[in-house]
Amino acid sequence: MRPTNPRGGHLGNYEGALRNWVNLQNEGYDMFCMVADWHALTTLDDTESLAQNTIEITKDYVAAGIDPSKSAIFVQSHVKEHAELHVLFSMVTPLGWLERTPTYKEKKDEIEGVEREPYGLLGYPVLQTADILLYRPYGVPVGRDQAPHLEIGNDIGLRFNRLFNTDVFETYKYLIPEDETRAKLPGLDMRKMSKSYDNCIFLSETEDETAAKVKSAYTTPSKIKKTDPGIPEGCAVCQYLKIYSPDWQTLWDEDRKGERGCMQNKTACIEAINEYFRPIRERRNALTNDDVQDILKEGAKKAREVAGETMDKVRSAMGLLRD
Ligand code: ADP
Repeated sequence: MRPTNPRGGHLGNYEGALRNWVNLQNEGYDMFCMVADWHALTTLDDTESLAQNTIEITKDYVAAGIDPSKSAIFVQSHVKEHAELHVLFSMVTPLGWLERTPTYKEKKDEIEGVEREPYGLLGYPVLQTADILLYRPYGVPVGRDQAPHLEIGNDIGLRFNRLFNTDVFETYKYLIPEDETRAKLPGLDMRKMSKSYDNCIFLSETEDETAAKVKSAYTTPSKIKKTDPGIPEGCAVCQYLKIYSPDWQTLWDEDRKGERGCMQNKTACIEAINEYFRPIRERRNALTNDDVQDILKEGAKKAREVAGETMDKVRSAMGLLRD
């Protein structure tokens, strides 16, 4: 995740990625949970809060259940092998693959003029591929929006193997939540929940802040009175109920039949979200900056071990002279 916000991660980050990370860890997988601070630089103009943002997102990982004694929790810029593999992959990645990436095309259009477009924006998927392949993973657990980048990653790995006649990299799986609501969680306005749209509920939010946000959320526009039929599929509040309320099916039926009002749904939704996140938020509030720094230091050590092994294989496959 990119540390692009002082509030840390949002419910979309949690549903699309973090929830799965915790489940995979608890199933026994070796997890490498990175904070992508270099990636934040492609869109962040002001870096004054970058260091604290990095701490905040790490708090989310730990509070959600990533256990530093089982998983490596680390910052991208602390493990220099990411930069080395990026530079080597940049030598084997065709420019056309990068220019065709949908997120590149979108972001490029937002920036005026080629003089202001940073190289890092185009190279983003190459760095992300280095982030992934350094750990030679079985799978990468992410939200649906990341699928195009992951595709390039496997292509770069296969191309590397072919060019240098090696089998260093194996194809990895995309571990995207099966439930489409989780894979692409809607924001308060029903667009994808994203920091750039200002439509997020953050894990770090207080219960009152959560309540105020849910009260402002988009509901069925044609449902004005309680007795008007609702369309839960298109209502942000009903989407959250589906995830966080065990009674969602009854609530959706009543909403459809005009037996419940939007305010009633919002009250139920606020309770359900706050109840689900209460223990996570309590753990989050108990973490200090120092705790987080210690965790990140240990995590970087674990990450460097595996990253170092991969780099030995890569350098040798490419024929670089050993130092
Ligand atoms: P953002 O898009 O808010 O800047 P990031 O780019 O840092 O978030 O994404 C971190 C992870 O969270 C990625 O795996 C991404 O797929 C996932 N993610 C982001 N937004 C959502 C969403 N609305 N629903 C599901 N997953 C999401």
